[in-house]
Amino acid sequence: MRRDEISAWLRETDRSRLEQLWRQADEVRRQNVGDEVHLRGLIEISNHCVRECHYCGLRGPNRRLPRYRMTAAEILACAHQARALGCGTVVLQSGEDPGLTAEWIADLVRNICVATGLAVTLSLGERDFAELAAWREAGASRYLLKFETSNRALLNRIHPPRDPQRPDRFAILRHLRGLGYEIGSGIMVGIPGQSWEDLTDDLLCIQALELDMVAVGPFIPHPQTPLGAAGSASDHPDQVPNDPVTTCKVLALARLLAPLANIPSTTALATIGGTSARELGLRCGANVLMPSLTPARYRSSYEIYPDRASFGTSGGLSRAELENRIQSLGRRPGVGRGDSPNYHRRPRGQTCHDVAAG
Ligand code: SAH
Repeated sequence: MRRDEISAWLRETDRSRLEQLWRQADEVRRQNVGDEVHLRGLIEISNHCVRECHYCGLRGPNRRLPRYRMTAAEILACAHQARALGCGTVVLQSGEDPGLTAEWIADLVRNICVATGLAVTLSLGERDFAELAAWREAGASRYLLKFETSNRALLNRIHPPRDPQRPDRFAILRHLRGLGYEIGSGIMVGIPGQSWEDLTDDLLCIQALELDMVAVGPFIPHPQTPLGAAGSASDHPDQVPNDPVTTCKVLALARLLAPLANIPSTTALATIGGTSARELGLRCGANVLMPSLTPARYRSSYEIYPDRASFGTSGGLSRAELENRIQSLGRRPGVGRGDSPNYHRRPRGQTCHDVAAG
């Protein structure tokens, strides 16, 4: 798809034209990744964070947030629950937490693989190459690291680098691919200061990275962060809104540009669009759901943004209910690990393009 076509779709407001976009994305999804909806059990293992991202409630300087780190036994229990719920994968996510040592995570990954046979996806932020290698060795299959926005100036403003000498997220993604991980990345939609042209670049970047997994969610302001503080909203005429329809446009276009990727319908979309938004996401390109298995006593403290939609065991979600919701869309729950066909298509060890250079 040409840049001007992407840009025109992003600015489209006509409902019937947009229905056409949803249908097109749905068809491309069906042809490339089929009717299975893969279930990933999300376990939010720690909310400690050394970073100061201007969008995220886990940021170190947010002193109001009670901090927790789950024990290995608690995490293993959640992984068993994930399997009982029908998930083929567990996703271990956290703030950037040096308290999660390389050895501890490696042991945990090994134990989960042996005890449950589930695929393990990690989303632990920007970690050292040696750590990423050790975790791959221990059995982790996939890594999620969103680049958030391809606008470098905007990114540096809202995601201050820990040390400018360290590899950035694009370099880490390339390295992860070289280690044999399936790689996932993506963006937030409607970040204050993000323009339509930025969003067009973001989508071209998603395409060029040849991602195995693409995650797209709306930016949701958090009052205890610089971007969520009163008066920080941008009223620039070119500002992208953080609404459900814009998020769905990006989701649908991501499917057209990365046809073989696994793409979740995110909790952030359901948070701003209501429970039916999860189904809407699945109708306009998504093929993955990520119920949370995080125990209720921790889940409210994993507050990357406020009032997260409840979707998971702490909200009483059962396997039958999950299957019903999937089947009501004419789809079926995924069986097995649900690897990305994009990963299997690519020769092992091939690295992705240096899209971010310059
Ligand atoms: N620390 C890890 C993973 C946890 S954050 C990392 O940074 O990769 C996971 C994702 O939550 C981020 O990539 C970001 O896209 C999203 N997120 C954080 N704050 C958000 C907010 N206020 N609104 C919407 N999404 C947010």
